[in-house]
Amino acid sequence: MLLTNGRIYLMDAWDTVVDTLVVRHGRVAFAGRRSEVNVAGAEEIVDLGGRAVVPGLVDAHGHLMHLARGRLTLDAGGARSEAEVAERLAARAAKTPRGEWLAGRGWDQNRWTDQQWPTRVSLDRAAPHHPVALTRIDGHATWANSAALAAAGIDRATSEPTGGRILKDERGEPTGVLVDTAQRLIQRAEPRPSADRFDQAVTEAIDECLAAGLTGIHEMGAELYAIASYRRLVEQGQFPFRNYVAVAARSESTWSLYRELGPETIGDGRVVVGALKLMADGALGSRGAALHDAYCDDPGNTGLVLIPADEITRLTLEAAELGFQVCVHAIGDRANTLTLDALEATLARGPWPDHRFRVEHAQILTERDIPRFRRLGALPSMQATHCTSDMEWAAERLGPDRLRGAYAWRSLLETGVIIAGGSDFPVESPSPFHGLYAAIARRPRSGEDRGWQPQQRMTRAEAMRSFTSWNAYASRQEGELGTLEPGKRADLVVLSDDVFTCAAERIKDITPVLTLVGGDIVFRATYSPA
Ligand SMILES: [Zn+2]
Repeated sequence: MLLTNGRIYLMDAWDTVVDTLVVRHGRVAFAGRRSEVNVAGAEEIVDLGGRAVVPGLVDAHGHLMHLARGRLTLDAGGARSEAEVAERLAARAAKTPRGEWLAGRGWDQNRWTDQQWPTRVSLDRAAPHHPVALTRIDGHATWANSAALAAAGIDRATSEPTGGRILKDERGEPTGVLVDTAQRLIQRAEPRPSADRFDQAVTEAIDECLAAGLTGIHEMGAELYAIASYRRLVEQGQFPFRNYVAVAARSESTWSLYRELGPETIGDGRVVVGALKLMADGALGSRGAALHDAYCDDPGNTGLVLIPADEITRLTLEAAELGFQVCVHAIGDRANTLTLDALEATLARGPWPDHRFRVEHAQILTERDIPRFRRLGALPSMQATHCTSDMEWAAERLGPDRLRGAYAWRSLLETGVIIAGGSDFPVESPSPFHGLYAAIARRPRSGEDRGWQPQQRMTRAEAMRSFTSWNAYASRQEGELGTLEPGKRADLVVLSDDVFTCAAERIKDITPVLTLVGGDIVFRATYSPA
């Protein structure tokens, strides 16, 4: 295939721009000037019409399994009140046989006027005959009704697991909200979707990612049933995407299997199971992020540590010996300190020259911890849209002092580290252009905000690298992905607008026009604005 008449950004070390690419056997065979190629042998010629072409955009922190699950369940996203979620639930319950579980995701009490936790009472009224479990937008809290609590055996006598909270009312009865590890009590009782339904949902979720402009993701915490689905789809030639999978350590059956198996490549690199995902703390929105000092808006609460530091060290050693990369979720400053401490302890026990240890989110950092990433060789994996979504209320949680080390992209880059860029979808939209815009403008997509801590912005080149070549490095795939140099996989996106030269305001509205994964056309816009 010959792609010509474009502004093709190779994103190599020299920032080379060419007008023509030749793709052969799924890889870039040539990148240069049209006059240098003999077009006679080309099977297919694509006239790019002067458009910009970039290497495949990869989301370094997404959840395909959850995006797929979300397609089978109630969407509670965007609701403005507890009552609105209950209304949506009642409509769903009316069409669902009695006794069947109703799952859902996406509610966010920070968007409601009172900003109070919801309770089971409203769900009981909306769906008295179905067990209901609705996950908060960030996945760090579950809101259940009485039937679901009963099915899971949760009552006033149930004790809180380590790293979890069961919210209770003044009489000691569970209110229905379960935070962090306490969610597992419900998840264990909830039935899984059938393989057929789930495969279909994964197919739709991949289509959603492709339409958003992605060619691949790093999935931060997948379970066996999801990996089994990806395998079936790859074997049927129905996986037009790349997924670098980190196994969820909290799913014991998944990690115990991969501990025996070691890292695995499925179907010529479409799916690579190469990492282990650990969770050090909760999230800021549900006040589960572990902080050194209490929340400004919740005195006495310093968040939740989900795993002891010596357990991070033990699992990191175990995974590294088996050849797995380790990715640790750490949002609060205390979680980041203990994660970096654990890495330091691991490194003291033996040389791991190319460990590429990742800290997922690295969201709130003390001044002291910022240079430790570079020193230890740890890679921060960050989601720029979290910053623009959280900026309205992050200050209330953290206060002005801690904000200085929050979403501190520039401070980190200045120490010499690279940042893997992602979205954490379905917490945020999978659109990489939303992420690029947030990283570059540090401003919400709507509204008149002038930008928040503008000194922490990324340049366009840095933001683009965080979704391409830096992500390839952060998944040990820089030999295959991340740039359009000859020999690399032909994963690329033709853009509706040039991300390097268009007005900054337009970056958020860029859409993919044509997308190739491994040289195959996997997405073509039905309409593309001129
Ligand atoms: Zn995540």
